[in-house]
Amino acid sequence: MAPGGSRPSLHFIFEDRTYQAPVRRALRRLPPMTGAPIRIRTAQGLRDRHGEAHAGAFPRERRIVFDRSLKEFRRIFVHELFHFVWLRKGNAARRSYEDLVKAECLAGLPGELGWSAEWRKRALTPRDVETRSRRWREYCCESFCDSAAWLYSGVERHAEFTLAAPRRKHRRAWFAKAVEGGALSI
Ligand SMILES: [Zn+2]
Repeated sequence: MAPGGSRPSLHFIFEDRTYQAPVRRALRRLPPMTGAPIRIRTAQGLRDRHGEAHAGAFPRERRIVFDRSLKEFRRIFVHELFHFVWLRKGNAARRSYEDLVKAECLAGLPGELGWSAEWRKRALTPRDVETRSRRWREYCCESFCDSAAWLYSGVERHAEFTLAAPRRKHRRAWFAKAVEGGALSI
C-alpha cells in the first residue's frame, strides 16, 4: 500500500543494503505487522549451536542476521521473521499450535514444511511430546516458522515441503484463524 495508507507497517533498518529490495517484496505477501524497527544485517560463516546456519533471528534484540552465502532469501526471511511472531504470540496461541502438531506426532505422521522443523520432528521421542521437553518446544517453534514460510513466502514447491496435503490444510486453516485475524504486533 502507498505511504499514507492505513495498512500497519513494520520498519527495517538495513545495515547493508543487500536485502533491502527483497525484504520490501517479501513484506507484500505477509499479514500486516507492526512493531519496533528490526535491524537487518549480513555476516560471513554464520553458525548457531547446531552448526552452520543460513540466518539467525534475535527477536529480543530486534535483529535478523543473514549469511552472505544465503541462496533462498524469501523462505528464510519469512521463517526468521516469524520467530518474532512466535515470541509475541500469547501462550494460548502457542499451545494451540502445539496441539495441532501434537496430533500429527501422536499419529506418527511424518513430514514438515522445512528442514529446520523436519529434523527436529524426526528426533522427537514420545516422552518429548508427553513432557513438553525443550526439544518439543523448539520443534513447535521451528514448525510454526517453517509453516509460515511455506504459506507466505510465495514459494509453492520445494523439496523440503514433505508434509502430506491433508495436514497442510490443517496448518493453513490454523494460520487463517490464529495469525491472519488482524495486524500482528511483533
Ligand atoms: Zn528457526
